[in-house]
Amino acid sequence: MGSREDLLRQREKARDLTLKIVEALAERERVVAEISRLKSELGVPEFVPDVERELRAAALRRAAELGVDQDLVRRVLTLVLRSSVRAQASTSNPNRVTHMDLMRAAKRMERNGREVVHMEVGEPTLGAPPEVARELSDAALRGYAFYGEAAGLQELRSAIAEDLKERFGVDVKPENVVVTQGGRFGVYLVMASILSVGDEVLVIDPSWPHYKQTAESIGCRPVVHRTSLEGSWTPDPAEMEGLVSDSTRLIVINYPNNPTGSVISEGMMRELVELAERSGAYLLSDEVYMDYSFGEHVTALASGSERVAMLMSFSKSWGMTGYRIGYVVAPKEVAERAARIQGSLLTCVPEFIQMAALRALSDRETPRRYREHMMRGIEVICSHLDRVGARYVRPGGGMYVFPQLPVEDSMGFALRLLERRGVAIAPGQVFGNYQGFVRLSVGDSLEKIEKGMRALAEELSDGRATGPGEFPG
Ligand code: PMP
Repeated sequence: MGSREDLLRQREKARDLTLKIVEALAERERVVAEISRLKSELGVPEFVPDVERELRAAALRRAAELGVDQDLVRRVLTLVLRSSVRAQASTSNPNRVTHMDLMRAAKRMERNGREVVHMEVGEPTLGAPPEVARELSDAALRGYAFYGEAAGLQELRSAIAEDLKERFGVDVKPENVVVTQGGRFGVYLVMASILSVGDEVLVIDPSWPHYKQTAESIGCRPVVHRTSLEGSWTPDPAEMEGLVSDSTRLIVINYPNNPTGSVISEGMMRELVELAERSGAYLLSDEVYMDYSFGEHVTALASGSERVAMLMSFSKSWGMTGYRIGYVVAPKEVAERAARIQGSLLTCVPEFIQMAALRALSDRETPRRYREHMMRGIEVICSHLDRVGARYVRPGGGMYVFPQLPVEDSMGFALRLLERRGVAIAPGQVFGNYQGFVRLSVGDSLEKIEKGMRALAEELSDGRATGPGEFPG
């Protein structure tokens, strides 16, 4: 039998080992900073998948030799690698201005009484139809204002399943549907239901920043597949497969896309679903812009795969951004977990809001009208872009255009455009470091868009007179 002294000695040893882990991490960070410096000197890309794959394999082999829990090592490894990438990103760009600086500047200007043209947000300013607003208060008066089911009202979930069946011929059951407090929260619920600390999420850039932020906030690591304007923003499933690791649990796609407006073919959708299945991952298909597809919308649900979660929102189709309501369609086990998490955080989406959404669902005319608006707005933007010699891929849907402008620094350009001409746009850096690109939103009125684009053209020609006017690299 061991003595108390033995116990104390072992405790002391465990303490020393823990401190050694911290010291090893500190040493590793110093080495990573040096690697980053060398990479930027030599012009080597920040993230090299082959190097990382070899490192992972070596670490897991070592774990197996030593009899350490492989899953623990895998997760720790993801966290360590995540901090390496972060360290490299911050050393390669130490004086970064973020889009938050831009938003703060816009707010400051409005507070000082200046009119701002808003082409930076994805919000249809046409707003919700009046009968939807009326149903909101009527439903509250009828008593839809108590605690409710976490997954949502049965009648709304059934109506959503029915709607999807009717529109896309897909077999969705009410138990696969979770009504969420907005699409943004839907992304969180899907991620929190599927992922654990140390998992990886494959994201296609340029992308809505919320995917990466949410993955990071729950201790996961976003891994990025970068698409390009030259490649028409089309993803490359073979290249994506090279980024899949033993920690990849989720692949996120978004078509029609924010910010590029690109859409997906049925063949590509099939390939991406198959990639998720082969990788043992789930596919989150964010389809909140489905009603703004200018052709036939391609939904991931058509695959019938048990690995697909689809996200939809009432924000875009019916201009209900302030109502904060959307839904997720997911395999039963994911839907149940998502409902449980939502229940514990929010209890439920207020039932009078759900009733307003139920009313919206039967209105197919508003989404058609709003899509018309988006198409016309995109035409206005494209015709101005053609005149200023910008490069872009003509959107097949959505409510944005993502051109490359003849400017060296799109963040600097966006700041100047806002300060000098009162037009707010989103710089490309926000969507995954697309220097020289900007996202132009068509949510505002056509008159405002026209005005904003004229100001943008003027700012560009002023910039040309005073500075370099060529496309960077
Ligand atoms: N997905 C994408 C791609 C978006 O652009 C947005 C809104 N900007 C959302 C989801 C979420 O919208 P909401 O939270 O208003 O439903």
